[in-house]
Amino acid sequence: MDTIDERNVKIQPLHAGWYSGKVAAIDMLRLDQLHPVISGNKWYKLRLNILYAQEHNFKTLVTFGGGFSNHLIATACAAKKAGMGSVGVVRGKYDKLTPTLIACQQEGMQLVFVTKEDYNQKDDKVWINDLARHFDEIYIIPEGGANEPGRKGAGLINRFINNSYTHIAVSVGTGTTLAGLRNSLPAEQSMLGFVPMKQGGYLREYIATHLNPGKNENWQLLDSWNFGGFGKWNTELITFMNDFHNTNNIPLDIIYTSKMMFGLRELIYSDTFQPTDKILCIHTGGLQGNEGVSGLG
Ligand SMILES: *Cc1c(COP(=O)(O)O)cnc(C)c1O
Repeated sequence: MDTIDERNVKIQPLHAGWYSGKVAAIDMLRLDQLHPVISGNKWYKLRLNILYAQEHNFKTLVTFGGGFSNHLIATACAAKKAGMGSVGVVRGKYDKLTPTLIACQQEGMQLVFVTKEDYNQKDDKVWINDLARHFDEIYIIPEGGANEPGRKGAGLINRFINNSYTHIAVSVGTGTTLAGLRNSLPAEQSMLGFVPMKQGGYLREYIATHLNPGKNENWQLLDSWNFGGFGKWNTELITFMNDFHNTNNIPLDIIYTSKMMFGLRELIYSDTFQPTDKILCIHTGGLQGNEGVSGLG
């Protein structure tokens, strides 16, 4: 059986022509290569949650997401590997299951579909207790793995990052990965969080409140390259993603990492960086999400 092997994760330099020598180097941390299903940052956000659940004899992981959620499929697969059951609470109704949801079921996840209104109550105790009665010994992981073990686990990504990098670029959904890494990386390393949705400003507060003393500095969120909002894109972004793949031999996902690299390149060509700067971009994975999208690649 396939295992999660961190030796699959490589640091790959981008082609110098892609940034025309405007900085000293741009490398990509290929977390997308960690595992074919549990890709990118998702394993790091899950691993301490699963460890805790196992130590406390929980039998079933319950978590939340939309029909294309990288977090849902990662949880389904990780639960199965850990010998646990899993339940995915899915926002909205689907006439036809998405490829992501089908894959979740194949990993043994039970899907519970709820209306958007019910979904918004997911942090409500009564609602959760009602759900819990239907399943065996549940351990709840919030949407996107956004809890303390999630942030701590994401902080472990620092093992791949040495001090020579001046800037770390990461794409942001819940902000869990950015917060965890800000806590674990030296404050001198500048963090750029690329937000793929409109008005991602509320994330600033979430991130700031979860930073350790002395760590609430040298990070910023950039949401200018949201392409109309979460899950939205245009032909310019698709062309960019395909060109990036051709030039660097690295596939990006259309939801998160394409927008990050698009934005980063605009920053580079508007001379935001020093020629001596060294940038590490974190490839957080998400490639399974491209499968639900027609006309890509
Ligand atoms: C989930 C995800 C993110 C966002 O991670 P957060 O910790 O929620 O901010 C970024 N990129 C990809 C590809 C993802 O799947």
